[in-house]
Amino acid sequence: MSNVDWVARTQAAVWHPCTQMKQQLITPPLVIARGQGVWLYDDAGRAYIDGISSWWVNLFGHSNARINAAIIDQLNLIEHVMLAGCTHQPVVALSEQLAQLTGLGHAFYGSDGASATEIALKMSFHYWRNVGLADKTEFISLKNSYHGETLGALSVTDVAIFKDTYAPLLRHSVQMMSPDGRLAEVGETAADYALRAAAEVEQYFSQHHHNIAAMIVEPLVQGAAGMAMYDAVYLRRVRELCDLYQVHLIADEIAVGFGRTGTMFAYEQAQIKPDMVCLSKGITGGYLPLSAVLTTDAIYQAFYADSTARGFLHSHSYTGNPLACRAALASLAIFADDDVLVQNARKGDYLDAAAIGLRQHSRVQHWRRTGMIWAFDVVNAPADFARQFYLAALTQGVLLRPIGNTVYFMPPYVISEVEITQLVAGALFALNQLLS
Ligand SMILES: *Cc1c(COP(=O)(O)O)cnc(C)c1O
Repeated sequence: MSNVDWVARTQAAVWHPCTQMKQQLITPPLVIARGQGVWLYDDAGRAYIDGISSWWVNLFGHSNARINAAIIDQLNLIEHVMLAGCTHQPVVALSEQLAQLTGLGHAFYGSDGASATEIALKMSFHYWRNVGLADKTEFISLKNSYHGETLGALSVTDVAIFKDTYAPLLRHSVQMMSPDGRLAEVGETAADYALRAAAEVEQYFSQHHHNIAAMIVEPLVQGAAGMAMYDAVYLRRVRELCDLYQVHLIADEIAVGFGRTGTMFAYEQAQIKPDMVCLSKGITGGYLPLSAVLTTDAIYQAFYADSTARGFLHSHSYTGNPLACRAALASLAIFADDDVLVQNARKGDYLDAAAIGLRQHSRVQHWRRTGMIWAFDVVNAPADFARQFYLAALTQGVLLRPIGNTVYFMPPYVISEVEITQLVAGALFALNQLLS
């Protein structure tokens, strides 16, 4: 009964994100009371595997003892202090570790992924202005890209359902063809196709580079596009073109950073370094909102001057929040202590094998995997597929949210073999139920 109460009260009081509230009457939200590891428990005690890591943020499970302890420890010291005119040990230590991991530095903090995108775009434009190239004002992104939903971030996003309504408010930007390996033609490898996509960038840069500040990409996996995966050679080629034409390369690692693609950061697989990297989501292990932009010394130095206006005067109230930084430090400590990337590679292979029934399913197309992200497309999916699949999987104790006719797994890294088996079986059950 209490469940009914909370659903009615949330419907009346909370405006839920990414939701048509009227449809929520038909598909009520889960009322989650607690979590442990990969499990979410609703207030009736039913358990669900969090198969998409609570919108891609969770790395080491819910209520992780080590992250909990770090936050509680910090809570007894200082919960928050402004980062202008003050600093604190957690933000310094985290910035040092992020610099060590990325080879980029001078961590600039925001609260959400979208704020990191805004910071990177403003920083790029302002850099060019500071070095006397104020005409470089244009941003380039990929077809079907997703970089967040504030107006600047939405300008470089290319998902119609999120973007079209707000078109009159948005800054013009240009989208290059997506290197999505599924688009390769017969006889063409994913790498061939990626290079063909990069050739379009070359064409565009060669004509317009005087006006282009930056190109922003989601390295290796375009998440919101439906887990579109592409060959690393694309990033290598785009890096060369950005160098040649004086365009910043911004790596939006908000979804793919922190081990998701098998390496700590996805761009590492192309053996490149971006000019800026945007981090968020998994940065705190999925505990608290925090984002960061790291950049090169060259960019940083262009702001370092006697003139106040040459500085980067952007700010958010909760910039560098100490609790969030401690969660992030605890999460990085787990990476080091538990040899996470090696363990993940093993778990990934286990899931591949456990999913044989899905991979060979007659209605499954484009089975694909990058690190700890799996996806497949359902051929001739019925109308309302995503919602129906979600409901069917829930009956099996599995929480999944397909994007259109694409089903994906993005589980917390702490998932066990038994849990992997249940996750995959739940998806296969849901698929068969919908297609029967
Ligand atoms: C989620 C996401 C964002 C936006 O992050 P928010 O915290 O939701 O604002 C930006 N870029 C990518 C690639 C994302 O997946």
